[in-house]
Amino acid sequence: MPQDDAQIGQEIHDFARELFPICRSLTGDGVRETLQIFRRHLPGIDIQEVPSGTKAFDWTVPPEWNIRDAYLLGPDGRKVVDFQRNNLHVVIYSEPVDREMSLAELMPHLHSLPDQPGAIPYVTSYYNRRWGFCLSHRERQALKEGTYRAVIDSTLEPGALTYADLLIPGESSNEVLISSNICHPSLANDDLSGPVVATFLARWVNALPKRKLSYRFVWIPETIGSIVYLSRHLESLRKNVIAGFTVTCVGDDRTYSLVPSRAGNTLADRVARHVLKHTDPAFKHYTFLDRGSDERQYCSPGIDLPVVSVMRSKGGNFPEYHTSLDDLSFITPGGLQGGYMALRRCLEILEGDARYTAKVLCEPQMGKRGLYTTLGTVDVGEAVKTRMNILTYCDGRHSALEIAEILGKPAWTLAPYFAELVEHELIAVAP
Ligand code: ZN
Repeated sequence: MPQDDAQIGQEIHDFARELFPICRSLTGDGVRETLQIFRRHLPGIDIQEVPSGTKAFDWTVPPEWNIRDAYLLGPDGRKVVDFQRNNLHVVIYSEPVDREMSLAELMPHLHSLPDQPGAIPYVTSYYNRRWGFCLSHRERQALKEGTYRAVIDSTLEPGALTYADLLIPGESSNEVLISSNICHPSLANDDLSGPVVATFLARWVNALPKRKLSYRFVWIPETIGSIVYLSRHLESLRKNVIAGFTVTCVGDDRTYSLVPSRAGNTLADRVARHVLKHTDPAFKHYTFLDRGSDERQYCSPGIDLPVVSVMRSKGGNFPEYHTSLDDLSFITPGGLQGGYMALRRCLEILEGDARYTAKVLCEPQMGKRGLYTTLGTVDVGEAVKTRMNILTYCDGRHSALEIAEILGKPAWTLAPYFAELVEHELIAVAP
């Protein structure tokens, strides 16, 4: 996985294509297989198994679910629904069954979407024992009277919940948390785009020549996974996390959106708003009341971590959501690249977000330092003005992000100016 920026969207999409067919759930071998593939790209990943029945705050780790096959034989003996064609065809966490029944008896076990007659819905039943099949409404309406045989070859037994994390240390113990979910079967934007983008972000962090901050990447099943993770790491997360991001729905190319933290004005909120404002001025700014993913747990009272969700189209707010239409054609290389870059820029800003002090009293004489030249493609006048504007706010009180906000420019375009001014000893990081 080389990380050429122009190619990265395609590489992330290729990676998603490799993982898409695996039947993931809250627990089970699909999650293990997925995390083993992540470990091929990130050898330091630590994979943990938490036994079924383990208590985590108010919750209990459920039995482990595994599935080998599932199908519905029609009256003529042909498979009318087949898990091997699409793993959405079975209700996730279905208990095993092998039974013959009439169409009327079968109906309560079938799920379809009359408003989206071509789509297979994604249905789960983690905490109530049942079984069922999901199919397009068109397929359902074509079912004929007669005797059907429902076969689900699954196991629902004591086992474990599997998750992974990776701590990439920096000079400081201050941490950035990047959390994504690995619990959906063949669904691309929600949630596969999240863990694959997070994996590429981890590779980028790993490749930095030096790091000021530490980075904690977490790949967990949604809800129960974050609750288990918090129950095991709460003290250190509270002590060290300065900003966090849940990474989900980052692969389509319709829009950008943000769910803020419950507090609403943490460092993570300010960084995310800054990046999205300069990436897509029309980005959708939700409130915490619209929360949907693990920011629910990370921001709950008493946990109070500074965690936001930076997304493209938010889960629940696109028609393909939780249906077979959220597939590899719904996420695009361009969409994934945009989601990846938005998050990478958040990390870049956090990494470079120091307060600087000017080292020369009054306005420095820029000409004798050669600082009337252009920087990159910016014209001379604009570059000189930007340098002077940065300098004038290097008073030890304004952070680089705050200066970018005052100047109304993306922080990532100012980073080279800060580096240049440090190099010329005109500014230094404030003590
Ligand atoms: Zn979902």
